[in-house]
Amino acid sequence: MGVESGEQKAGPKSLLRSDALYQYILETSVYPREPDSLRELREITAEHPWSFMAASPDEVQFLDLLVKLIGAKNTIEIGVFTGYSLLATALALPDDGKILALDIKREDFEIGLPVIEKAGVAHKIDFREGPALPVLDQLLEEGKSDGSFDFVFVDADKENYLNYHMRLIDLVKIGGVIGYDNTLWYGSVAGPPDASLSDYALHCRPFILELNEFLAADRRIEICQLPVSDGITVCRRIS
Ligand code: SAH
Ligand code: CA
Repeated sequence: MGVESGEQKAGPKSLLRSDALYQYILETSVYPREPDSLRELREITAEHPWSFMAASPDEVQFLDLLVKLIGAKNTIEIGVFTGYSLLATALALPDDGKILALDIKREDFEIGLPVIEKAGVAHKIDFREGPALPVLDQLLEEGKSDGSFDFVFVDADKENYLNYHMRLIDLVKIGGVIGYDNTLWYGSVAGPPDASLSDYALHCRPFILELNEFLAADRRIEICQLPVSDGITVCRRIS
């Protein structure tokens, strides 16, 4: 995924003001350490008309490190697309680690699946096609999964972010981590809505603003709003 201004407009891969600075980060710290499988899936995903939806290389490097830092084993990913951030998480997990991977569309996941299989991590992934919210509700209803997840990456329908939070706060264990992606929403969260945003971006913006305010006030978690990629809010459950 390049960092030309055109691509940045299609979907921000960084909110840094200078493309050169972002390029510096990628070339110095990210690409030289990128696993072959992640590079391959990044290049395949770049061919997809909706490639802007995929996480950025520096972001998946962060996810990889985060998963290892917290020693996560049992995880959820909401919003898979071609499986780029999913592969990064799968590579970071121990061999008996698990990812419940939720997406309404299996077709895009199948683009990445051969790369995931070749990387030897497909056995960690339980992909379920369909909307994520009912799956979370079902987990809560069954009552076996409360407090059982170490890590969740939320990167699907922004309208439901707060609904996801209401469920995930019980599903993640105390000390577990939830990462909400795109919480700076093209940099649009500060100031009035920008007329250059697409209709979709304008539609979702209030949901992101609502989530950010809710997370900031939620005493059950500690948070850090990172300006990596399009903004990731890392939340650690404390009660
Ligand atoms: N995490 C991926 C990108 C995900 S893009 C990466 O970084 O590579 C967002 C995905 O959310 C799309 O694949 C879309 O199909 C999915 N999605 C949209 N609405 C959803 C819903 N209600 N439940 C689950 N997935 C959904
Ligand atoms: Ca995202």
